Amino acid sequence: AFEYAPAPESRSLVDIAPSYGLFIDGEFTEAADGKVFKTVSPSSEEVLSEVSRAGAADVDRAVAAARRAFASWSALPGAERAKYLFRIARIIQERSRELAVLESLDNGKPIKETRDTDLPLVAAHFFYYAGWADKLEHAGFGAAPRPLGVAGQVIPWNFPLLMLAWKIAPALATGNTVVLKPAETTPLSALFFADICRQAGLPRGVVNILTGYGDTGGALVAHEDVNKVAFTGSTAVGKQIARTVAGTDKKLTLELGGKGANIVFDDAPLDQAVEGIVTGIFFNQGQVCCAGSRLLVQESVEEELLDALKSRLSTLRLGDPLDKNTDIGAINSAEQLARITSLADRGEAEGAERWTADCPLPSAGYWFAPTLFTKVTQAHTVARDEIFGPVLSVLTFRTPEEAVAKANNSAYGLSAGIWTEKGSRILAVAERLRAGVIWANTFNKFDPTSPFGGYKESGYGREGGRHGLEAYLDV
Ligand code: NAD
Repeated sequence: AFEYAPAPESRSLVDIAPSYGLFIDGEFTEAADGKVFKTVSPSSEEVLSEVSRAGAADVDRAVAAARRAFASWSALPGAERAKYLFRIARIIQERSRELAVLESLDNGKPIKETRDTDLPLVAAHFFYYAGWADKLEHAGFGAAPRPLGVAGQVIPWNFPLLMLAWKIAPALATGNTVVLKPAETTPLSALFFADICRQAGLPRGVVNILTGYGDTGGALVAHEDVNKVAFTGSTAVGKQIARTVAGTDKKLTLELGGKGANIVFDDAPLDQAVEGIVTGIFFNQGQVCCAGSRLLVQESVEEELLDALKSRLSTLRLGDPLDKNTDIGAINSAEQLARITSLADRGEAEGAERWTADCPLPSAGYWFAPTLFTKVTQAHTVARDEIFGPVLSVLTFRTPEEAVAKANNSAYGLSAGIWTEKGSRILAVAERLRAGVIWANTFNKFDPTSPFGGYKESGYGREGGRHGLEAYLDV
């Protein structure tokens, strides 16, 4: 019943740079009004590519294609859908070098991270959800859980391909079809993924990719033939989308911001904690929704820990994202750099003490050196607002009760970390923390089998694991 798109010749990176179009109904196509925008490398400010900017007419076309494809895609046996997902996962692995380079160029993150973290996790999500596609009736959702229909998905720029995988893999496994809008500063890996869908022979219209700005996302989530909206991004836009969707029959999941507390007790192995703190806030330049952006350290070890942390931060190498030795890459955009700079300046103006790692910044591109704020109180903006950059706010506590109270004193509730040798303390503290994911003696570890999502203003719904299926099913 399907027309299979022919697998294109494998492309080299050089071929990626020229303009792509939108990916609608299995074809790359220009926007109806011919609009385009440029995407730049944040580490050099050079233009990487020009991509189409989707308008309302393109949203209509893509949603219509997804609707047409839904009838046959949802009727396929799960085992057949699984074959496509396994194929996509394998092609991602085969093309992971190209994808890693492209992602680092477009996003600014170190190749060490895209190669060793983002890409393996992207493939793992497709493998994992491929495995569910033929087992939905045994997943505890009752007999014959049904797909919702057309999913409109909007994602941010911090993990462009990984957020795409979190959205697309469970949607397809459960029999939905997809229209996805990547962020305007990182459109390229999603378009490369569209090419992979063609290579995998995915039926036309099952996945559609619309590059564009917030207005494209707005038109997509408001479209009357979209049944499910999945959004990852800022809390402000998430609230706006919740208002758009209110009063319709669309289902909604929101993955929003965070202000994670990384809690270090005096019996913690401090060397290990230092590594966890560094991973917690400097991985991806701190542009991570579940970053451990608040360090809560027990008063008696504050000095020792901060000395060790500062020495460690002085060894981090900032620079070219494509250099395999780079630890800290570029900030994703000029706007994001301005936001980080302004929040850090505010921290200083409000009386927190600023310490900056001594590392030279390249002259072109968007850069911010690893920064610590000490003498921070809970009233300070740097303790409350999500900075989404390489800036750590350090607070202290004396008792476990105080640690829990301070950790929970946030509008957000996405992540937390606990460092202690005492297993009983881990359990006692964890059960009182209001955070969707809690790590013990580690931080920022991900796995497709684990559900992920927030409390409070960090959003609702879960992605990942068996719970992630539920967001795409009528059960
Ligand atoms: P953003 O909310 O500005 O943009 C996210 C996406 O939404 C982009 O694709 C953007 O074009 C689109 N968008 C903007 N306005 C829209 C509108 N009115 N309607 C529909 N779509 C719209 O966020 P950002 O700056 O790209 O990303 C950073 C934020 O995302 C941070 O606050 C971070 O915490 C959050 N984030 C959360 C998670 C999570 O899983 N909870 C993951 C990554 C990022």
